[in-house]
Amino acid sequence: MTLPAFELHRPRSVEEATQLVDRHGEDAAFYCGGTELLLLLKLGFSSFGHLVDLKRIDELDGIRVENGELVVGAAVTHRELERSDLVRERLPALATMERGVANLRVREVGTLGGNLCFSDPHSDPATFLLTLDAEVECRRGGEPPRRIPIVDFVLGPYQTSLRAGELLTSVRIPAPPDGAAVAHAKFAFHERPTATVACLARVVDGRVAEARIAVGSVGARPARATAAEQVLTGVPVAELGEGLLEEAGERAAEAAAPADDANGSPEYKAQLVRVLVGRTFRQAVG
Ligand SMILES: Cc1cc2nc3c(=O)[nH]c(=O)nc-3n(C[C@H](O)[C@H](O)[C@H](O)COP(=O)(O)OP(=O)(O)OC[C@H]3O[C@@H](n4cnc5c(N)ncnc54)[C@H](O)[C@@H]3O)c2cc1C
Repeated sequence: MTLPAFELHRPRSVEEATQLVDRHGEDAAFYCGGTELLLLLKLGFSSFGHLVDLKRIDELDGIRVENGELVVGAAVTHRELERSDLVRERLPALATMERGVANLRVREVGTLGGNLCFSDPHSDPATFLLTLDAEVECRRGGEPPRRIPIVDFVLGPYQTSLRAGELLTSVRIPAPPDGAAVAHAKFAFHERPTATVACLARVVDGRVAEARIAVGSVGARPARATAAEQVLTGVPVAELGEGLLEEAGERAAEAAAPADDANGSPEYKAQLVRVLVGRTFRQAVG
């Protein structure tokens, strides 16, 4: 597999990146780590005369806290997230989730922004970010930024709400509510996940004061399972027996709308969701 010839551009700002894509139109594409795009080019699934490398744009870099939100630059790699002291301190579940993404080689160069923009249904971060009501910030050079809830950003397989020439610049993750914990789990027998589940649980005075459940990888796009959340909200932790968790798992499997693909039948994936919801919610409560 060899890469076809292309001209490489290395802009230093969002403005410059947008101008390049505007100038070359459909013959140009952004890339960051290149773990998805360069693979597509090598396989001959797409071809571009101009590649616009985003790694030198400072605005897309760094992990910081702003107004209580954890702000992750779009060009931050999975490996940086996994190893960041700030992430481990503020949101350890994010570091744990990132440690489970792909393999070391992919994590070393693949970015959070690239993962979300590629929008492969078999992925971890979008499911995780849904439980935290995260938003992405996107910007076309010369225009004000747009803040988009993650639920409205990931539209379906390989489809996002990005506009032409617009970059995802950062991911903004609100702090979990006081007393809440987040857990993420997946099941995979190929390289990418077959099913992903993320749960947030907040326990107050021995009761589940808040339950958030997101399911991904099994259907066209990750989704919050609100009916499952309702089943568990208000329940005393001591009564969180198999019956209630099974019911929540059932509601989550319905919300996930599992698809038939090389990872398995809809029935099989629904069963994975039922099992993972029970396990992951218990873990978050624990
Ligand atoms: C072997 C393998 C295993 C994997 N396993 C997992 C897994 O277990 N879980 C998981 O979640 N993922 C998995 N992945 C996916 C991996 O996480 C992504 O490949 C990676 O995060 C993509 O980031 P990138 O920077 O390399 O994207 P690139 O390949 O650089 O870009 C991907 C797409 O996004 C666009 N893009 C990139 N950055 C921006 C931006 N800032 N603004 C606008 N558009 C942008 C590009 O134009 C391109 O279309 C796996 C991938 C591989 C190859």
